[in-house]
Amino acid sequence: MKKKNPQTALMHSDYTAPKGFDAFPVAIHHASTVLFNNVAAMRARTWQEKSGYTYGLHGTPTSFTLEARLAEIEGGQYCLLAPSGLAAIAMVDFALLKSGDDVLLPDNVYNPNRDLGDWLSKDFGITARYYDPLIGAGIADLIQPNTRLIWTEAPGSVSMEVPDLPAICAAAHAKDVLVAIDNTWSAGLALRAFDLGVDIVMQALTKYQSGGSDVLMGAVITRDKELNARLQKAHMRLGFGVGMDDAYLVLRSLPTMKLRFEAHDAAARSVAAWLKGRPEIAKVLHPAFADCPGHEIWKRDFTGAAGLFSVLFDARYSEEQTDRFVDSLKLFKIGYSWGGTNSLCVPYRIQAIRKNWQDKGTLVRFNIGLEDPQDLIADIEQAFAAM
Ligand SMILES: *Cc1c(COP(=O)(O)O)cnc(C)c1O
Repeated sequence: MKKKNPQTALMHSDYTAPKGFDAFPVAIHHASTVLFNNVAAMRARTWQEKSGYTYGLHGTPTSFTLEARLAEIEGGQYCLLAPSGLAAIAMVDFALLKSGDDVLLPDNVYNPNRDLGDWLSKDFGITARYYDPLIGAGIADLIQPNTRLIWTEAPGSVSMEVPDLPAICAAAHAKDVLVAIDNTWSAGLALRAFDLGVDIVMQALTKYQSGGSDVLMGAVITRDKELNARLQKAHMRLGFGVGMDDAYLVLRSLPTMKLRFEAHDAAARSVAAWLKGRPEIAKVLHPAFADCPGHEIWKRDFTGAAGLFSVLFDARYSEEQTDRFVDSLKLFKIGYSWGGTNSLCVPYRIQAIRKNWQDKGTLVRFNIGLEDPQDLIADIEQAFAAM
């Protein structure tokens, strides 16, 4: 080719980077267009097999690396990324459910997952029904011929009941029903969901995998090739690509995730143990404490706990008082999500969310960050006084 014009020279040069650069960080590869050497190479590559790169939506070396690491942590084979945890949940539903099908969700499911279930029921000809999270093998009685999927969450959001996963999986598989778990609380570290029989693991990477209170991302992990292919098709049809800068941030946080998880666990248990001894608190809803429904199952199935738990205040305190408690906290900030380095506290109107909720006291959820637990306890103590 003759000498290039300046505008073209801005975009093309004969330079090629020397081989031999190596470092621990995974490179951030951005791409919408992926280049092929020739037409035959383009025709030979398909996004379904992921044997090569085809289009940015299906990933670059950065996201492929993140998917492989997440699958390995979870004990799975395949992983698909989504722009948020909720998008990962939607990917599972749209991949596996169609008009006329039935899906079962626990009554303590992450509330936007419940809202999605209600939407499927209202507008998509699917029925979404809710079950008692402590139902165990009794789920068999709820399975209909058109039931395709059972969602589980261990422990469930906000009220923290721990389900009997092996019992639910056995009942589901006896009737060819798939079981999905929202395994965000365990980060894939404290619960081996696949070993307990679960078919599909969903993670909100927004939480401990990111750890920075900055990134939104989700993942769906499986062991079965055919199941992954169904999910991958939904991923494609819904256009659930992720940004590579965000994928890099998660990759950067993963090496410290286990250390952070264990530090959050230890700190949360010491704060929860202190709360357990306080007259203001009626129940500590932390799976490692006997007050929490499903505590025995947690002891059987889990090897650790997250830094997220709830408490029920004694019924003599009004909502106005417990709101004042939350407003009086100084180190604990008020805000949704969790899994970052900073402590958070959110009050929930649990009676409005849950059917058949018996307890009268106000529920407050704590996310224990990486501050010194003694300082967190002192903060709670001064907020009790202000209440
Ligand atoms: C945060 C969360 C989600 C959703 O994750 P986003 O990335 O915020 O959409 C799903 N399930 C659980 C249990 C969560 O805590």
